[in-house]
Amino acid sequence: MTTTTTSNYFIEIENQYGAHNYHPLPVVLEKGEGVYLWDVEGKKYFDFLSAYSAVNQGHCHPKIIDSLIHQAQKLTLTSRAFYNNRLGEYEKFMSEYFGFDMVLPMNTGAEAVETAIKICRKWAYEKKGIAENNAQIVVADNNFHGRTTTIISFSNDLNAQKNFGPYTGGFIMVAYDNIAALEQLFQTHPNIAGFLVEPIQGEAGVYTPNESYLMQVKDLCNQYQVLFIADEIQTGIARTGSLLAVCGNCNCANQCEQQETYSKPDILILGKALSGGVYPVSAVLADKAIMEVIKPGQHGSTFGGNPLGVSVAMTALEVVYEEKLIQNARKLGHLFRAKMREYIQHSNIVQLVRGKGLLNAIVINDSEHGQTAWNICMKLAENGLLAKPTHGNIIRFAPPLVMTEDQLLECIDIITKTLKEFE
Ligand SMILES: *Cc1c(COP(=O)(O)O)cnc(C)c1O
Repeated sequence: MTTTTTSNYFIEIENQYGAHNYHPLPVVLEKGEGVYLWDVEGKKYFDFLSAYSAVNQGHCHPKIIDSLIHQAQKLTLTSRAFYNNRLGEYEKFMSEYFGFDMVLPMNTGAEAVETAIKICRKWAYEKKGIAENNAQIVVADNNFHGRTTTIISFSNDLNAQKNFGPYTGGFIMVAYDNIAALEQLFQTHPNIAGFLVEPIQGEAGVYTPNESYLMQVKDLCNQYQVLFIADEIQTGIARTGSLLAVCGNCNCANQCEQQETYSKPDILILGKALSGGVYPVSAVLADKAIMEVIKPGQHGSTFGGNPLGVSVAMTALEVVYEEKLIQNARKLGHLFRAKMREYIQHSNIVQLVRGKGLLNAIVINDSEHGQTAWNICMKLAENGLLAKPTHGNIIRFAPPLVMTEDQLLECIDIITKTLKEFE
């Protein structure tokens, strides 16, 4: 095969035999290491998506891969019909790492969100005393929490929702980053059990709320006996320059209890980078009074909490502290936004940069349905950097957190040179 037929071949068989539920950039990857990816022609790229923040620890991190191989040779799956010698250890580790009493292990992000919804509803009936089938969960405008029928029922992305009805009820939408609107809802609806929210809206286009928003959410939830449910599947695990986005400016959830900036949720949802992108691992964390509402037989998953997944996750979380990914994300995030702001001052094509830590986005001066952002991403790929538009005119920039300052400067160079071609 010649070099160009190699890529085309893989693209064509995906097109022919795979459902068309994605619209990928025409790049066929076969290898990853740290911040780099290589395509089947051997071209090297900087990864600026990190599999939607699943690969925070970098591609094929040797320590995480070792952990995977080691456990895979010993025991992979027992189901929860029996105990295994890894799960309890993992639950203890997670509980101490994130500062919650208990963990409920699942596999994908959407499953963990579903789990949180179920816990919240059960809590509403058994603890808060809401009449059965009347519990309401408040969600934010432009949320993204996954793709199940229940989750898309409370999406306002028409593409995600249309013709998948009938929809699941029990959800009320509120404007994101609007504490007055939230309070108004809490005041007027007596049956609200929870508020499910992304601390920074990733898929919507990296919308970072007002600095005091999350703390006000927490206070308001406390005041109205509503569970604050934080979906940190994309923002968690060092991505935004703190262990969790709800940690504010603290480095470590373990010490956050004393920190004034920590808006501790009642239910925390994790996924993606929990396994460093090596294996699907997700989790729901809560304190005992909430988690206890789930009793044997009421919820579960064949693969949830399997020895392979939990071994990988423990190692992936060790890497976060060992390699100081929180501090690195924070430092490089400041540098990235500063450099982009410098560029934007003299730019007609880029309107603004926003984000926190290494979860950032630029807004392109084009309509939401324009092609410019896509064309820029195509050109970025040609120039050796992989990023993808989210919602038409927004490009998300989220490299692995193991990136060095020199590498980031090199990437900023690629980005600004590419943007100049569109001015
Ligand atoms: C990716 C994501 C999900 C869904 O996770 P999956 O593993 O794709 O099911 C849910 N919430 C947020 C905030 C996400 O970014």
